[in-house]
Amino acid sequence: SYNRVLEIHKQHLSPVVTAYFQKPLLLHQGHMEWLFDFEGNRYLDFFSGVVTVSVGHCHPKVNAAAQKQLTHLWHTSTIFFHPPMHEYAEKLSALLPEPLKVIFLTNSGSEANDLAMLMARAHSNNTDIISFRGAYHGCSPYTLGLTNVGSFKMKLPSGMGCQATMCPDVFRGPWGGSHCRDSPVQTIRKCNCAPGCCQAKDQYIEQFKDTLNTAVAKSIAGFFAEPIQGVNGVVQYPKGFLKEAFQLVRQRGGVCIADEVQTGFGRLGSHFWGFQTHDVLPDIVTMAKGIGNGFPMAAVVTTPEIAKSLAKRLLHFNTFGGNPMACAIGSAVLEVIKEDSLQENSQEVGTYMLLKFAKLRDEFEIVGDVRGKGLMIGIEMVKDKMSRQPLPHEEINQIHEDCKEMGLLIGRGGIFSQTFRIAPAMCITKPEVDFAVEVFRSALIQHME
Ligand code: PMP
Repeated sequence: SYNRVLEIHKQHLSPVVTAYFQKPLLLHQGHMEWLFDFEGNRYLDFFSGVVTVSVGHCHPKVNAAAQKQLTHLWHTSTIFFHPPMHEYAEKLSALLPEPLKVIFLTNSGSEANDLAMLMARAHSNNTDIISFRGAYHGCSPYTLGLTNVGSFKMKLPSGMGCQATMCPDVFRGPWGGSHCRDSPVQTIRKCNCAPGCCQAKDQYIEQFKDTLNTAVAKSIAGFFAEPIQGVNGVVQYPKGFLKEAFQLVRQRGGVCIADEVQTGFGRLGSHFWGFQTHDVLPDIVTMAKGIGNGFPMAAVVTTPEIAKSLAKRLLHFNTFGGNPMACAIGSAVLEVIKEDSLQENSQEVGTYMLLKFAKLRDEFEIVGDVRGKGLMIGIEMVKDKMSRQPLPHEEINQIHEDCKEMGLLIGRGGIFSQTFRIAPAMCITKPEVDFAVEVFRSALIQHME
């Protein structure tokens, strides 16, 4: 029963495993973009298991591939070869530009980023790794040095030599810059930025240079960036910023790592990978979440040169990485994305959704910003548009809870947890978007009353 589950949770699960809602959901089943609880209530899943269920819960083609592999072979470890891994490596590498052709498979985004850090250090012979404020790159001891958002922020002694630099946030940063953002919304939104906001990119670049010139970053090994910051509340950088930042890092001998854990696999619509939306070519790309539609799986893709640098310096092994089940599922996910035109759907339905939610910004004073790309959208809640003070926690919690009660599950993010995050499975339809916008709007009206 529900109460028994809550009791077990309290007694036997670590207190860091916290539930999202005041009244936690106890889920029973998932079907494509919908989730069902034990009482038969259904919920439109607009957060897809934290941006993970890329092609839909229990997608029949993915399930069929998993069931087929289940009866053949579960596990070998990488000391033996097996076709699912090699087939998957060939398929995945075909989706990346030259020279990003060498793949190492892991089980989670944190592991993938840990490995990318090792590669950056092995290749550059330097030690320091930098990331943005507000970045989320994982929860392992290594990646926690890179993660800089809210209560995930490293509060333990680290000594890992990682460093966070500024965040070029176009909404909340000191230079604003919503006009500089590459978004269809900019044509219909009013800009509240400080005068000169359109010079935001140059200002941020100057600040980035200052960070690179500090002692710690003089021996820079690597620079990690999410193409759009996810956990930080769908934060976008000014147009052109990342390209210049990559050049500056490379001038100092560092390698550039794109963390595609949330932005990859067609979610952003216009491109298969988030880095392509910035017109940059990273040296290392890490990916997880959507890669396995919820099955534990992740990957690091790099150049032959960087892969060799690591192999020369150490032996690296991962028992479950490249597991036959994961690879069979990963292959099916790639096939479904292609066959069902899900990247195209992300583009079309995502643009439709962004414009629909953006209208709420004009209607409600507490909707400060609506931003994002494809099926990765952030709705930043404020006390009022002028001050941009975050809407108090209790009020955001209530809106969040009300949406759930009306059958819509959405995510949260940002330093003050002030941004609603929307990232449904890529099979989402326009009528479902209409439903979600209506529910969200009703929750806002309820809040104003
Ligand atoms: N990178 C990014 C951008 C993420 O959003 C996450 C997870 N939220 C991770 C890395 C870590 O992935 P995992 O939880 O699979 O370790």
